[in-house]
Amino acid sequence: MATTESARTEVRGDEAARPTRLYIDGSWRDAADGRRFDSYEPATGRVWADVAEAGPDDVDAAVAAARRAFEGDWGRVLAPDRARILWRMAELIDRHRDELTELESRDNGKAIRETRVEMAAIVRYFEYFAGMCQNVLGETMPEVAPMFTYTRREPIGVVGAIIPWNSPLLMLAWKLCPALAGGNTIVLKPAEETPLSALAFARLIEQLELPPGVVNIVPGFGERAGDALVRHPDVDKIAFTGSTEVGKAIAAAAAPTLKLVTFELGGKSPNIVFADADLDDAVNRSAFGIFSAAGQSCMAASRTLVDRRVREEFVERFAAKAQSIRVGDPLADSTQMGSQTSQRQLDKIKEYVAIGAGEGARVASGGEPPASAGLGDGWFFTPTILDGVSNDMRVAREEIFGPVTSVIAFSDEDEAVARANDTRYGLAAAVWTRDVKRAHRVAARLRAGTVWINNYRVWNHTMPFGGYKESGYGRENGRQVMEHYTQVKSVYVDLQEDQPDWFGD
Ligand code: NAP
Ligand code: MG
Repeated sequence: MATTESARTEVRGDEAARPTRLYIDGSWRDAADGRRFDSYEPATGRVWADVAEAGPDDVDAAVAAARRAFEGDWGRVLAPDRARILWRMAELIDRHRDELTELESRDNGKAIRETRVEMAAIVRYFEYFAGMCQNVLGETMPEVAPMFTYTRREPIGVVGAIIPWNSPLLMLAWKLCPALAGGNTIVLKPAEETPLSALAFARLIEQLELPPGVVNIVPGFGERAGDALVRHPDVDKIAFTGSTEVGKAIAAAAAPTLKLVTFELGGKSPNIVFADADLDDAVNRSAFGIFSAAGQSCMAASRTLVDRRVREEFVERFAAKAQSIRVGDPLADSTQMGSQTSQRQLDKIKEYVAIGAGEGARVASGGEPPASAGLGDGWFFTPTILDGVSNDMRVAREEIFGPVTSVIAFSDEDEAVARANDTRYGLAAAVWTRDVKRAHRVAARLRAGTVWINNYRVWNHTMPFGGYKESGYGRENGRQVMEHYTQVKSVYVDLQEDQPDWFGD
């Protein structure tokens, strides 16, 4: 394990405890009950922001503002003008990319080289959805009667978005872009660990003179602000990304008001390496699949299924790769893996490594925090490979959400597919092989929303993303996402000069 030199001469202090407020109805305010909470910088373990905490009253105010905007000024904004607004949001993010990148890396601990790539993707997102505004189309149906029949795609109304901490501004984009493109308004609750980039975004878009209430940002806790949003009778749809457990709780809490819900939840994604794979690429990209974002990714390659014939060689090279990864200060350009986002995540990762060892797995790489990541009390861990895992062990079944993958051997294609599918999750999967027939055959048999052939953890705004099984329902991105941010109205227009009178004779 290599560590990076700290880019900092001194680890903060002066700018710690920057105070924030809630963004509701186009203005900044403190929580109605005055509550606040601390946000930590994971690389140092220190408090670095003092955040106003939204409670049910604030959520209520935000939803009321979003409703007013939807029924009022925003409802009258035409598609080309919404497109201009999204495009100008893209420009603002682009212009402030460097500040946003640093803010995000400091708030969630991700290596700055990754956050930079993420920021570029976010700009593309807004641009793509600017184009989408004028491409949300209804249909004209064939004439099966003397009727002109067509459908309209209309906004749903007030969208409540609840997002996690692993890619905060990207997750905001995944929800806010289709919401606005479809003509909805939004109330967004960022994760308690990472509220700052969403607030910075709100600060930027103040320049756009959006009608107040179109975008509302309410940092707070899941159990208070999140729950209030989910149960609110005037919220029409909830878009959630996070854990499967919370997803299930939200599905139940949303049921009494029968609001629409879409879920992007956890994963335990299989990365299948066949013996004929290009092992150089497989090693490098499998490492990216599990160690990028410090493993805090819903699509992380957390199960590495390897053909027995190449297992030993693969694991040896994979372990060497893992050990070469430079873990350290997220803000240093040379850092390849930053910190975990919270002490809680770090503790969970340590616990799972111990569980794996107890179940008989061998630690082939990592397995502990780095001796020194150069930043004192930051929440760092090392890239970890557990070898000799069987698919029934807890480390192969439960989502760890850290830089830990389990190597599971298989003997043939059927066994590989059976093991891959033997999970309650179904978010993503990969197949490494040079055999084009096998690649497509296996891709078709995998029960997952995304399959990569000879790559891992690539995605873009045009491709639908979402889960099979307990990884969620609905799709984000691409054209498909608009089905979840609009509703269909069927309109029948009678074309007959004279209508027959059914009750005439
Ligand atoms: P989480 O609890 O599911 O949090 C995700 C979001 O939901 C946060 O904004 C959270 O608020 C909110 N929330 C929590 N309970 C809620 C409730 N009852 N009603 C409404 N909203 C609620 O996830 P986490 O605690 O941050 O992480 C736990 C595990 O979730 C991870 O270890 C990982 O396995 C999984 N996870 C998955 C993804 C993904 O991309 N699919 C992302 C993050 C985490 P708070 O900020 O107050 O918690
Ligand atoms: Mg939580």
